[in-house]
Amino acid sequence: MKTLTINNLEFAQSAQSVTGVLDIVEMDRLADVLLIHEAMPELNIQFTLAGHNKKYSLPSLHLSIDAHLPTTCQRCLNAMSLSLKLEFDYLITDNEPAEFDENDDLDWLEISPAMSVSALVEDELLIAFPIAPTHSSEQQGECKQHITHSGEKPNPFAALKDLMKKSS
Ligand SMILES: [Zn+2]
Repeated sequence: MKTLTINNLEFAQSAQSVTGVLDIVEMDRLADVLLIHEAMPELNIQFTLAGHNKKYSLPSLHLSIDAHLPTTCQRCLNAMSLSLKLEFDYLITDNEPAEFDENDDLDWLEISPAMSVSALVEDELLIAFPIAPTHSSEQQGECKQHITHSGEKPNPFAALKDLMKKSS
């Protein structure tokens, strides 16, 4: 997929929207924090970006991300799929809005004639990515199962070694 860039102000003012699937190839920084090897669950990053002219006092963008990222559970050290569902609103403005509250859910982006959508999605995924991902409570059974049957699963340390070999 060609890198998608938008004129973020025009996009918001004309209430355009775009939906797509992003490839990890476009996301070097995110790829660095994921431990990816062949046995990992599939990576899937879907997003929708929609412009709004009247939702707030300034033109804005709404971003939804639905991502499944392959990583390693820090409790049982086996492959796991991390699900992240994220929603953001950004005002499009060259100056920080006067009444802007940092604790608010509302964020802002500088006006740009060529804003990279994949870089924005990547930034948000990097911020949301946990330092030590573990199987969630619904996946607890999986965590235990992996520990009991660890022989059947790829050894995460072998994968790590492969990864280190590749990068050296
Ligand atoms: Zn686990």
